[in-house]
Amino acid sequence: MAKKKQHTVLKVPAIEHGTVIDHLPPRAALTVVRILAVLEDLVTIGVNLSSHVMGRKDVVKIANRKLSPDEVAKIAIIAPRATLNIIESYVVVKKYTVTPPDVVEGIVRCVNPSCITNHETVRTRFSVLKAEDGSLRLRCAYCERAYDRQEIEIV
Ligand SMILES: [Zn+2]
Repeated sequence: MAKKKQHTVLKVPAIEHGTVIDHLPPRAALTVVRILAVLEDLVTIGVNLSSHVMGRKDVVKIANRKLSPDEVAKIAIIAPRATLNIIESYVVVKKYTVTPPDVVEGIVRCVNPSCITNHETVRTRFSVLKAEDGSLRLRCAYCERAYDRQEIEIV
């Protein structure tokens, strides 16, 4: 007789005020924590949670913090389908899907070693190319090299 299946569910605690970043692709949670540098905030990370939409997903909850437009743009680059939930008094007061910007400035490093942005103090600038399947490519405005989302380095 088969043993009763054990379900291990990660219960992420609710936060009173703050932001929940949902529908991150698996393994994106730690990158999000790093780029947001949320060292003083209470952060809860859920990794590989089951998702009806995505199969597996990561979730990051940050207490007492709202994201700046720059931070939202960074998240949209690494997780183009992420949803943000703004929580006030345990209630979701706003929920929206991030929109990758058309241009990102200063938040992505060009990994081409001969690019001028790695030799002079130039603010990096990338065009965001959106494919129909929702994937992104970024093209450096200086050396014109294009990168997949997986190849880029967030500053
Ligand atoms: Zn470049």
